[in-house]
Amino acid sequence: MKSSLSRGAALTCAVTAAIAGHASGGAQAPPDRPLLFSGVRARNSDLYVLAPSWQPAAAASESAAAGTGGDSISLGDDLYVKRIGENLWLHVSSRELDGRPAWSNGVVVAGPRGAIVIDTPWEDEQTARLLDWIDGAIGAPVIGVVVTHFHDDRMGGIRTVHARGIPTYGSWLTARRAKREGDPPPMHTFRDHVGLSTGADSLDVFYPGPGHTRDNVAVWLPQRRVLVGGCMVRGTRTRSLGFTGEADLKRWPASLGRVRERCGTAEVVIPGHGAIGGLDAIANTERLLRERGEER
Ligand SMILES: [Zn+2]
Repeated sequence: MKSSLSRGAALTCAVTAAIAGHASGGAQAPPDRPLLFSGVRARNSDLYVLAPSWQPAAAASESAAAGTGGDSISLGDDLYVKRIGENLWLHVSSRELDGRPAWSNGVVVAGPRGAIVIDTPWEDEQTARLLDWIDGAIGAPVIGVVVTHFHDDRMGGIRTVHARGIPTYGSWLTARRAKREGDPPPMHTFRDHVGLSTGADSLDVFYPGPGHTRDNVAVWLPQRRVLVGGCMVRGTRTRSLGFTGEADLKRWPASLGRVRERCGTAEVVIPGHGAIGGLDAIANTERLLRERGEER
C-alpha cells in the first residue's frame, strides 16, 4: 500500500495562497459585560473520551517506524495524523489530565491553494510538529487555521501558528474570550459565518449557537459531506457530554438542530474527541442532552 507520505508528497502546491471568503477582520464586540466564566479550564479527565480504540498507539508508532504502511503516522507519543480521505487528515493529540491522556481531534484539508487546519493540537510544541509534518509530507503551505472554540484543545497552539505568520479564524466570541484568558485571539473573526477555500474544498465555518461553550463553531465541507463538529458534537459511542462546566445545556439542543439543518446530508461527522461517525454522533449528543435534562 502506498503510504500517506508519498501520496501527500504528490500534492505539491507552489501557490502563494490566498483564502477566499470574507472574514470580517476584527469584528466589534458589544460593550463589555461582567466576566461570565472566570478562568475555568477543562482539566477533568473523566470529561474526555480517552484514546480511541481504533487507533492503538503502538500501531501508529509501528507505521511511522516503517515509514510506510497503514494510514496513521505517528509524530510522537502524543500526536499522530491519520489519512481519512483524499487530501484529508485527522490530527489527534493528547494532553495528560489527572494522569491519563486525553485525546483530541483536529483536521487538515489540502487543495491547490494550500492546506487549512481545523483546530490546533493541545500544545504549541505539538502544533509545531504538525505544521512541520504538513510542510514536509504534504508539501502544501498552510493558508489558514480555524479554531472552533477558545479551549486549549482547539487553540492551545495558536501562538505557534501566529509565529509562523499563518492567519487564524474564529468567532468573535472566541476572540473576546481568548483575550480575557490572556491568550492571543484569532486574527480574523466573524459573527455567523465565514467561507474559506483550499481551491478544491470550500469550508463553511458557522456559528450554530451555544453548546459545549458559548463560542463553539462547526465547519462544514459540503463537497465531501464532512462535518467537523468540534466539541459540541460528541462521539457516537460516548456516554458522556464531556466537560460541561461552561456549557449551555439549555440551548445546546437547538444549536445542534441548526447544525442538522445546515449539514443534514453529512456522511462523516468528526467530533472533538473520540471516533469518527456519521449523523448518529449528533443523535447521540442529543440523547445525552435529553438524559441530562431529565436528571435536572
Ligand atoms: Zn472545549
